[in-house]
Amino acid sequence: MALLKQHAWQISIGRLVLLLLVALVVGLLVDRVEWALILALAGYVAMSLRSLLRLQRWLRSRRRLPPPEDWGVWSDLAWTVHGRLEQDRSRKRRLVRLLRAFREAAAALPDGVIVTTLGREIVWLNAAAQRLLGLNLRQDRGARLDLVLDSPRVRAWLAESGFPEPLIDVPAPGDEALRLSMRLIPYSRQQQLLVVRDISNLMRLEGMRRDFVANVSHELRTPLTVLHGYLDMMDAEETPQWSPMVDEMRRQSLRMAQIVEDLLTLSRLEAQNEVVAGRVNMRSMLATLQREADALSQGRHRVAVEARAEADLVGADKDLHSAFSNLVTNAVRYTPSGGQVSLAWRRRADGGAEFSVSDTGVGIPPEHLPRITERFYRVSNSRSRDTGGTGLGLAIVKHVLNLHHGCLDIQSEPGRGSTFTCRFDEAQLWTEPEREHAA
Ligand code: ADP
Repeated sequence: MALLKQHAWQISIGRLVLLLLVALVVGLLVDRVEWALILALAGYVAMSLRSLLRLQRWLRSRRRLPPPEDWGVWSDLAWTVHGRLEQDRSRKRRLVRLLRAFREAAAALPDGVIVTTLGREIVWLNAAAQRLLGLNLRQDRGARLDLVLDSPRVRAWLAESGFPEPLIDVPAPGDEALRLSMRLIPYSRQQQLLVVRDISNLMRLEGMRRDFVANVSHELRTPLTVLHGYLDMMDAEETPQWSPMVDEMRRQSLRMAQIVEDLLTLSRLEAQNEVVAGRVNMRSMLATLQREADALSQGRHRVAVEARAEADLVGADKDLHSAFSNLVTNAVRYTPSGGQVSLAWRRRADGGAEFSVSDTGVGIPPEHLPRITERFYRVSNSRSRDTGGTGLGLAIVKHVLNLHHGCLDIQSEPGRGSTFTCRFDEAQLWTEPEREHAA
């Protein structure tokens, strides 16, 4: 066969030449050379047309037949096409197998997986997605996600452009006890994935952890108050030899009381999804913070306040005060005597506003910055304890800012000082229509 393929053209041309020679001889014998040659050529064209017709029929046939038996180039052509078709078929089979394996794997996932277009129209979903979201592939194929998922929170999340941060603790449609997390993942130019996970157990554990911390803190409050009360009653003059120890016990009990208060504040903040918002008067907030800074510093630092923005915030006054005051307290505590602490409230170019606290204190080495807002994370344990820190201040700041849709930026240089900036969007500023709305 290979030999035939190689010599396909020689065979075809050879045949034609042979036919013409025979025609020539016959033509000479009968003295009709032109007619004999024309007849031979016509015969050759007829044979070629017949081969073309067989090739066309074979190509059009839906059945998988072997290529038609033919001669010369026609046979070679048919076998080349046949080879390509076989290659395509086996590639297709492999792709189908692969696709099936992927679909089966995706279908077997315990997490819900929904493939959507960029316009968030459903293309495919697995069994877990059907179970968790109450969807049905047959009915919902082509439907827009935000229309089939009947939850304002999910709809607002899906309406965000691009790929928003994962959404957590969403009640499953039809079953409030089932808590879900949702995450949008881009995976091709035309499609994206929505991954839905059942996080009920995680949320339950998280709730138990929160309750546990809150309960323990609450239970510790009373014994600590009693201890502190008795320590206060101990008369240093009667037992002077105990005086240093009693002082230390008093200091430590105060520190424990402060840790308990901070833990309770954190638990309360964690339990909230949003704050009861009112108008936060920033002018009086800054005045209070300055008074607090002065009282804590006791003249050891210069405290400056710069209020360039007339704007007020929308939020919970008490929580925002707690966050700002933590930053101011830290600035004073981590700045040696003679240093400067500056508070500022400014508008930002993007329409929002920011509250910043700068100091000329010890600063924070860059490797600590990513973890500095974690609970009980300290750069230096001894310094934090010496200055009366609980290790919870910045965690509280972060939670309060999250609840106010703000973010915390920290710039610091060891030995030169730090600047903590709380950024707020324009939407978080108090505006006239809101005032009318509130009234
Ligand atoms: P703490 O109660 O220990 O101050 P925080 O959560 O408020 O806890 O702060 C965490 C750590 O961040 C502190 O232990 C301290 O090392 C560092 N830190 C916070 N603010 C400043 C600051 N203004 N200057 C230098 N270090 C700071």
